[in-house]
Amino acid sequence: MRIVLLGAPGSGKGTQGQKLVERYSIPQISTGDLLRAAVKDGTALGREAKDYMDAGQLVPDGVVLGMIRERISEPDAARGYILDGFPRNLRQAEDLDEMLRAAGQPLDLALLIDVDAATLKQRLLGRMSCTECGAVFNRYTSPPLRTGICDYCGGELIHRTDDNEATIDKRLNVYEAQTKPLIEYYSRDNRLRRIAGLGDIDTIFAAITADIDARLSQQPAQ
Ligand code: AMP
Repeated sequence: MRIVLLGAPGSGKGTQGQKLVERYSIPQISTGDLLRAAVKDGTALGREAKDYMDAGQLVPDGVVLGMIRERISEPDAARGYILDGFPRNLRQAEDLDEMLRAAGQPLDLALLIDVDAATLKQRLLGRMSCTECGAVFNRYTSPPLRTGICDYCGGELIHRTDDNEATIDKRLNVYEAQTKPLIEYYSRDNRLRRIAGLGDIDTIFAAITADIDARLSQQPAQ
């Protein structure tokens, strides 16, 4: 099962992606996480990406596409994967389709998690994520039991440097201008499913899995 999770920053792609990993035993591939790891490790790719990320801009397509090509050819992705934060513009979506068609492994679904702009902003301003297991908390709406410490693994919680008001506004603008056209792109051949992303995490998850299971039931067993 090859799935794209589509949605603005703060729409819950990361949170829902983690739950999908458990449910379907396929990896979540987040270009944001891969880029942050490269920045942390100080690799050449990380150094190239850092300024774009700090400015809330997209990292150049060539960098991200190369990273994705490598990651989806790893053995754990053979049965499928959940793409989180990729593609982010039309060029990336078209290149992904071309890459997957050439490999005879087309994309199954693009799931849009739909959330209004005011909610996105509040979520991003309060967001804290675990440096160890990636679990996401929110200072205002779902705080951890102990300040700064992950409820699940005891890891340290950090607030992302690009989750500040000025950069959030830029990232939301980039989403509107560059990523939103993908809704139309994936609607054209009926690959898009739209999920209301407000409310309880488990209710949203149930809506997502209902769409995935319906799609899986149309496919021969792999
Ligand atoms: P995210 O964690 O998905 O919000 O991504 C954080 C930042 O990484 C973004 O603001 C971009 O600078 C960069 N980034 C992540 N995914 C992509 C992508 N598919 N294309 C270009 N830049 C990306």
